[in-house]
Amino acid sequence: MGELNSDIQYLPGVGPKRAALLKQELDVHTLDELIHFFPFRYIDRSRIVPISSVSADLAYVQVQGRVVTRNLISPKHLSVMVEDASGRMEMVFFKGVRWNYERLAPGSVFLFFGKPQLYNGRLNMVHPEVDAPLENPDSAGTLTGVYPSTEKLRSGGVTGKVMCKLQRAALALCLPEIRETLPPDIIASRGLCPLAYALQNIHFPSSQEALAAAGRRLKFEELFFLQLSLLKQRYVRSRAEDGLPMPSVGKAFHACFNALPYSLTGAQQRVIREIRADISGGHQMNRLLQGDVGSGKTMVAVLSCLLAIGNGYQACMMAPTEVLAAQHYANIQKYLAPTGVKCALLTGSTTRKERIPILEGLSDGSIGIVVGTHALLEDPVRYKALGMAVIDEQHRFGVGQRARLWAKGPVSGGRSIAPHILVMTATPIPRTLAMTFYGDLDVSVIDEMPPGRKPVQTILTGRNRLPAMYRFMREQIALGRQVFVVYPMIFINEKMEDVSNVEEGYEEIAAAFPLSEGYKVAIVHGQQSNEQKAFNMKAFAEGRAHILVSTTVIEVGVDVPNASVMVIRSAQRFGLSQLHQLRGRVGRGGEKSYCILVTDQKTSREARQRLELMCRTEDGFEIAEEDMRMRGPGDLEGTQQSGLPVNLRIASIVKDARLLEDARDCAMGVLDADPSLSAPGNSVLARELRKGKYEIEDYSKIS
Ligand code: ADP
Ligand code: MG
Repeated sequence: MGELNSDIQYLPGVGPKRAALLKQELDVHTLDELIHFFPFRYIDRSRIVPISSVSADLAYVQVQGRVVTRNLISPKHLSVMVEDASGRMEMVFFKGVRWNYERLAPGSVFLFFGKPQLYNGRLNMVHPEVDAPLENPDSAGTLTGVYPSTEKLRSGGVTGKVMCKLQRAALALCLPEIRETLPPDIIASRGLCPLAYALQNIHFPSSQEALAAAGRRLKFEELFFLQLSLLKQRYVRSRAEDGLPMPSVGKAFHACFNALPYSLTGAQQRVIREIRADISGGHQMNRLLQGDVGSGKTMVAVLSCLLAIGNGYQACMMAPTEVLAAQHYANIQKYLAPTGVKCALLTGSTTRKERIPILEGLSDGSIGIVVGTHALLEDPVRYKALGMAVIDEQHRFGVGQRARLWAKGPVSGGRSIAPHILVMTATPIPRTLAMTFYGDLDVSVIDEMPPGRKPVQTILTGRNRLPAMYRFMREQIALGRQVFVVYPMIFINEKMEDVSNVEEGYEEIAAAFPLSEGYKVAIVHGQQSNEQKAFNMKAFAEGRAHILVSTTVIEVGVDVPNASVMVIRSAQRFGLSQLHQLRGRVGRGGEKSYCILVTDQKTSREARQRLELMCRTEDGFEIAEEDMRMRGPGDLEGTQQSGLPVNLRIASIVKDARLLEDARDCAMGVLDADPSLSAPGNSVLARELRKGKYEIEDYSKIS
């Protein structure tokens, strides 16, 4: 029996009770899993900073001192004064107040790790990590790993010290058994250290250099296998699965193209070339098209649909809401006029009477393109030959729904052949995240705006400036423009009294813009019925209301070119990508447009700095990168519903972007030469993949 797979219960120092805890809290069951549970930071024993030398310029520091006083300023605010031989410093807690109050008894000594900051002219640390003091603070510099932990683990006796002991014992048993997971040529070309060395040093670094080498090796390995697994799925699919061959361009495409009042941007041309290359080859296309709001994705979608038509197939285009579907439909009609292609709109509110001829037209092929919502996925919808499906604003569609489209392709040899799929999103996804999240899709980016689009001037302001803002809104309305006012949430939560509320906001706006002076204000929020929403939205879209007060329901789509002002209340509560989406709602007409970000009184400095980025740039990718850096990839707009497809143990998509690119290149090189990983030199790779650690949901094939 190998040690690696043995149950942690039998490791000296563990036993059944602690084993149960480790399994439950950390999902660590075997010795192998234990040694792959890594520290998240290291304490450098040589670096305890005297309190008098701490300054706000330092990043993270470690101080060691005695608690002088602890002061419960409120049930949610604990202030602890700590002193060492050189001076005093305040530690502040807003979370875990009770628990910290109890353990930080005056007279006891602790090690505090955190980021010093200047507050009202004095230094403090907010939420420092607190550890037992080091016995010989100035002993030689050894790095000690600090492991992620939980309250239950600590109270069950698995303290940091115990974890270190367990790791030492596990490594002693396991290291002789560790087999290399990467082929020698990759190790050599990337200058990586051996796996056993990496595991030893990630837990017990012999030096800073050894730790860096260990970290790089383990991160590379993790990212490499993740990419290998994703790309292998793609290779397998592109080889095995037939796509509908579409070698021709066709008359409809040319008719539309020649009638365009403008020429395509370079980016649009490039993307259309990419799509043509995909669909002409006989493999199924699965492409993600990213482009900022207004970058001209619809045009690309229409031309893609026309390529399908030109090869004797039909196309469908799905939008997340009825309003958007109707808007697409209206837009597309213009483009289709010169082509003679028949187009229909099918949504939940299409009446039975209207529905029958549409269903007939789709099954006999007389309707070439159908635009709609989820209604397109319903069973009665049958196509003569569906060749292309465009999905707009992908994140509103569940994976299962996407898969139902597959089954609607033409049948050949007893099974249906999936149509080509083009997923469009206006939420820019940072490249590294796209590589992980959509690793199995090909990605196209429209990174160029059509000429003539005017920049949106973005202004950051506070609540106390509302009168000036109202004056500005009145001026704009007097010029014939319309204004969006967006609020983050509907109900006031007791704990967040200062959050503006959309209904209250409506009252406020209606009072400042009274009907008696001729102002019309509409309101749209999630609690309204679909009819109410559509009715109010329409009133605004058709120019009958001057102001639309709403929650984020207007985020996606909705084109009102006459709206020139976007006011966002409690702007600090929005993610940057979301703000960017909202801002994209204005600046679509010929007029100069404005986005006014209004913060609440208690907005932190960090939040304000974040918002300042919005004033500096309109580049959606820059904003998305920054958003990801600040909030972590899990919170990123467009992905939070599904989260990341895998849990990364040590690498970070944000911090290790370079390594990720390299790992991907490396994985591609391997698969190009040996797609099935059957060469003798690649057997280690196949073996590692089989362990299932890197199994990822295949978004494109789930049924
Ligand atoms: P998206 O769907 O990416 O938000 P749209 O396709 O709706 O963008 O395009 C935004 C606007 O830009 C539309 O009014 C469209 O007619 C116009 N447009 C698209 N492509 C071009 C181009 N190459 N040159 C000029 N205007 C364009
Ligand atoms: Mg669009």
